[in-house]
Amino acid sequence: MIKLEIKGNKQQTITNVCNECGSHIKSLGITDIIVNNKKNTITPKDSDGEDITRTELSEELKVSLCEDCK
Ligand SMILES: [Zn+2]
Repeated sequence: MIKLEIKGNKQQTITNVCNECGSHIKSLGITDIIVNNKKNTITPKDSDGEDITRTELSEELKVSLCEDCK
């Protein structure tokens, strides 16, 4: 699952954590969690400048298990 943390200095960190034990799996960027709701007048782009066409988060990000919980 995705965990969003906002630190005191307003820095946001987005991480993918295990649904079972909450351990860190990988760091995510804002472009990893943007979805295209089709109502945007501007198509969101990923960090490579490619159009983001997904309309919902990937299953892998919604339900994630670390190596220990797999
Ligand atoms: Zn785990």
